[in-house]
Amino acid sequence: MNYQQAINKVYQTVLQGSRLGEAADYIPELARVDADQMGVYLHHNDLSSASAGAWDQNFSIQSVVKVLTLSMAYQKLGSDIWHRVGVEPSGTPFNSLGHLEHEQGVPRNPFSNAGALVVCDVLLDLFDDPRAAMLQMIRESTGNPVIDVNKSIADSEKSEGFRNVALANLIKSLGNIKHDVNELLDLYFDCCSITLNCKDLALLFSFLANQGTCVQTGKALLTPSQTKRINAIMLTCGFYDEAGQFAYKIGLPGKSGVSGAIVAVMPNVFSLAIWSPGLNIKGNSQRGIEFLEGFTNETGQSIF
Ligand code: GLN
Repeated sequence: MNYQQAINKVYQTVLQGSRLGEAADYIPELARVDADQMGVYLHHNDLSSASAGAWDQNFSIQSVVKVLTLSMAYQKLGSDIWHRVGVEPSGTPFNSLGHLEHEQGVPRNPFSNAGALVVCDVLLDLFDDPRAAMLQMIRESTGNPVIDVNKSIADSEKSEGFRNVALANLIKSLGNIKHDVNELLDLYFDCCSITLNCKDLALLFSFLANQGTCVQTGKALLTPSQTKRINAIMLTCGFYDEAGQFAYKIGLPGKSGVSGAIVAVMPNVFSLAIWSPGLNIKGNSQRGIEFLEGFTNETGQSIF
């Protein structure tokens, strides 16, 4: 399979398409980004790679980090994590408060903001310094020691993160958040503001394409069975109320973020990161989804 050829072809097609979307504007720092950029990086399990465009341009990881926070909690806590958060698709936007009141503050899944806040609360129990543990894991698996939290983005989110504040307080009032809400929100915003590029992101997710073991370092992060489950949750919940469309069009487990990042995984074959800041109405990268649909059609690579 010539992945580079397929990427070049689909990249050009998507670039020439007229649909771009809008960069997220509810986080002031994200609104300043030029929505017209696009980068792609594929990391194959045989250690080869293929890329296009602005793959080395930095962006904040945003909700893609929710897969990593969950993986860290799952690795330490095992299936007890599922007492705190469910594994059902929500069918609601990423920042919805909707179901919580009637479901005792137990979020439907770990990839909504509500779910990720609960997982961050669990991390505060499990790690002395979860922020440092997260950065260490990311730096080790990417081999990039300069990856860090972008404080301007974190501060920007903090200044406008009213829904996240509401979510954390609501869940706390229902008993499913234990720690101080401000401490928890700081951790959550910092995790979302970790800045990296498409290559870093593809390398970082190689463990989910390789039965839980990081392809390039050989370090096991999850068991094969845990990896199956995380990939299943990405497939069913990775794109909020567009998860069904994503599975239908692309047929790969994946996760999006409001910075315009998407990671998708072909189990046992590759991990693929794409970034383009223009978002569709569901808050997922417009060109990212178009690219992945074209790419999976072109290569025939999907789990189905
Ligand atoms: N940091 C963002 C928020 O909490 C993450 C949302 C996302 O990427 N979908 O609103």
